[in-house]
Amino acid sequence: MKKIVMALLCTAAFSNASFAQKMDDEPDLQMIARIKQEGFNNSKAMETLFQLTDVNGPRLTGSPGMKKAEQWARQQLSDWGLANAAIEPWGSFGKGWQVEKCYAAMTAPYYQQLIAVPKAWTPGTNGLIKGNAISVKIDAAADMEKYKGMLAGKIIVLEPGANTETKVNFKPDGKRLTDEELEKMDVDPHADDEIDNLPRRNNNKNQSPNPRAAAMGLRAQMDSFFIAEKAIAVVRLVRGTMGTVFTSNGASRAIDAKPVLPELEMGQEHINRIIRLLDAGKEVSLEMETKTTFYTDSIENNVVAEIPGTDKNLKSELVMLGGHMDSWHGATGTTDNGTGVTVAMEAVRILKALDVKPRRTIRIVLWSGEEQGLLGSRGYVKSHFGDKDSMKFKPEYDKVSAYYNLDNGAGKIRGIYLQSNDMVRPIFESWLEPFKDMGASTVTIRNTGSTDHISFDDIGIPGFQFIQDPLEYGSRTHHSNMDSYDRVNSNDLKQASVIMASFVYNTAMRDEKLPRKPMPVAKK
Ligand SMILES: [Zn+2]
Repeated sequence: MKKIVMALLCTAAFSNASFAQKMDDEPDLQMIARIKQEGFNNSKAMETLFQLTDVNGPRLTGSPGMKKAEQWARQQLSDWGLANAAIEPWGSFGKGWQVEKCYAAMTAPYYQQLIAVPKAWTPGTNGLIKGNAISVKIDAAADMEKYKGMLAGKIIVLEPGANTETKVNFKPDGKRLTDEELEKMDVDPHADDEIDNLPRRNNNKNQSPNPRAAAMGLRAQMDSFFIAEKAIAVVRLVRGTMGTVFTSNGASRAIDAKPVLPELEMGQEHINRIIRLLDAGKEVSLEMETKTTFYTDSIENNVVAEIPGTDKNLKSELVMLGGHMDSWHGATGTTDNGTGVTVAMEAVRILKALDVKPRRTIRIVLWSGEEQGLLGSRGYVKSHFGDKDSMKFKPEYDKVSAYYNLDNGAGKIRGIYLQSNDMVRPIFESWLEPFKDMGASTVTIRNTGSTDHISFDDIGIPGFQFIQDPLEYGSRTHHSNMDSYDRVNSNDLKQASVIMASFVYNTAMRDEKLPRKPMPVAKK
């Protein structure tokens, strides 16, 4: 019956664009079945994740841990048979930094070991330091006056903001997207952006006055004041309960950064206890020893490898995939973004194991500097494809079909963001068809931000991020001291890997490159 209909359509010289596209984008089910078989039965995803996180450790950009991970990833990709595996510099970054030691405790009114993590790019204590705690609350520069002459030899306990009030948490930490939430993303592009429960960068830079710049300006004044008053260290809490501490952005990593005191971010139940005791007029003594090392000659890199294309007309074209390998330092950066890196690596491992002969070249890139503002991917895109400010492009700009990114935690894939590219909707709907029973079917026109596909999207190269179940990303793991291997579900990782492999394969085999959105306009 299907054949007859098709024959009729053909003899009638029916030329319908969406029909033609549908034919082109019908996934090769035999290949999809092989990808699923390799990805589920011979998965190396958890082993890759173990090597990257437990074995390698934290990977703050510019740290020796990050450099070690780059070496490992290059070698692993090469061992799997990928071509042109290389560590590719994108530039300098300021100072590298790594924690060598961290101990903090309360010694009076009684002994209590404290949960605390050094704030990135702060100095160590230079041996064990001891001092009485003083609670300090500064909301504006004028508040500093009242602490004049009171801080010498003290450890400053900055009072947490209102969002860190103690309360019993009745919400489960882990969450999957419900059908209703996915439906909402599907039909209403402007529906509540917080549905996916993702932590988002504070993007109000253009607001005037800029609250973030104001807060940083005040903080710089406070740092100078604390040093002038001869305080010896700072502890504070930004967010986190029940042993979880979310690291906030670091102190300045600039080579000529002004000096700051050693500073630790502390768990809520511990810092609040200290503050309650101080408020009640009790004396609280603290001791701590932290050691951090700075690296001033740091050059930062991305890791690149390829499965070369085989079609003589298309092999110069590219399908790209990746995730960022850099992390924060409080744990092993497993869900941000060890899982994204693992999925990208596992996807190319699967394709290599199946000995696919892609028409276009498949290129994996593992980024660094993402946490400091997509620096690795921006650097890469600028040097290979084009400059987003001038909108001047390199010859390779026209060669990229798509870039696929994964960086929203450890959750399985539930669909994909079209990033406002209506033309790819029928293609992606067709490509997700074989994964419906695994929970991945939503294609939303929405944009999602805050990660490396934006570097491509900014200059008009199709760049996509998949929709993922949040699991414990917002509640526990994202930038925290609990971002560990234990928080990953192996089935989620396998599912994401086979979908990533399939999308990359389909893009590599398609007759045409993926359609692009209308060109963004050059900034004046
Ligand atoms: Zn990330």
